[in-house]
Amino acid sequence: MARICPLFSGSKGNSYYIGGAGNGILIDAGRSAKQIEGALEDNNIDIKSIRAVFVTHEHSDHIQGLRVFASRHNIKVYASGETLSALDRLGAINEKIDSSVIDKKGTAIENMLVKPFATSHDCAGSVGYTVEMSDGTKIALATDTGIITDEIYEEISGCDAVIIESNHDIGMLMNGIYPYPLKRRILSDCGHLSNDDCSRLLPKLVESGSTRFILAHLSRENNMPVIAESTALFELSKNGMKRNKDFILTVAPPVTNGESILI
Ligand SMILES: [Zn+2]
Ligand SMILES: [Zn+2]
Repeated sequence: MARICPLFSGSKGNSYYIGGAGNGILIDAGRSAKQIEGALEDNNIDIKSIRAVFVTHEHSDHIQGLRVFASRHNIKVYASGETLSALDRLGAINEKIDSSVIDKKGTAIENMLVKPFATSHDCAGSVGYTVEMSDGTKIALATDTGIITDEIYEEISGCDAVIIESNHDIGMLMNGIYPYPLKRRILSDCGHLSNDDCSRLLPKLVESGSTRFILAHLSRENNMPVIAESTALFELSKNGMKRNKDFILTVAPPVTNGESILI
């Protein structure tokens, strides 16, 4: 069994708790350490049960609280070699923080095996992760990627639960206030996954055996939870798939509401 708590999700900060019986990990620490500690408390998660923080990449919405959180609680940090160099350069880790390059074949953290896969984003060495529990339950997180590459699809398909980016509504983005270069960056292959990209992927994931989806990393300016959700549901129902029968779908809130997903 596994528990997933999206503590923070979206352009203002990202942090996800994934755990088993008595222990767990965080993926990213993109809010202040104090806010992350508060969110863990709201979800009745003992900080002492957190064994490591796995970082996807060095953008501030993923690392804002990393240094203080990891050093205050003596928690080890894992990331790709390129991301660790960037974290060092940015002062998000220091010599007092235990850190290690993630093993491409997977890093065992007690009863969990955490494995990275490359994402298509505008920084070197960015990754998503799968977390496999000892009972075989598997969870994937794929956010901050402009496209779903073959490698990403291979890693996330068949996972029991998939935290998947549904960043923006293309119409809202194009008509919104962002400057044109930023719009182009978001829409590029190294940007973020749109609601349309995400929703097209979901029926394939259901066919691969995935049943739980958590739409994540929604843009506050260029998306709304109801739009992301309805775009996904439309595509799934178009393929004859029924909510709560063939799949369970939720939208990760920007800040935890204390709800977690048990699988
Ligand atoms: Zn990013
Ligand atoms: Zn991000």
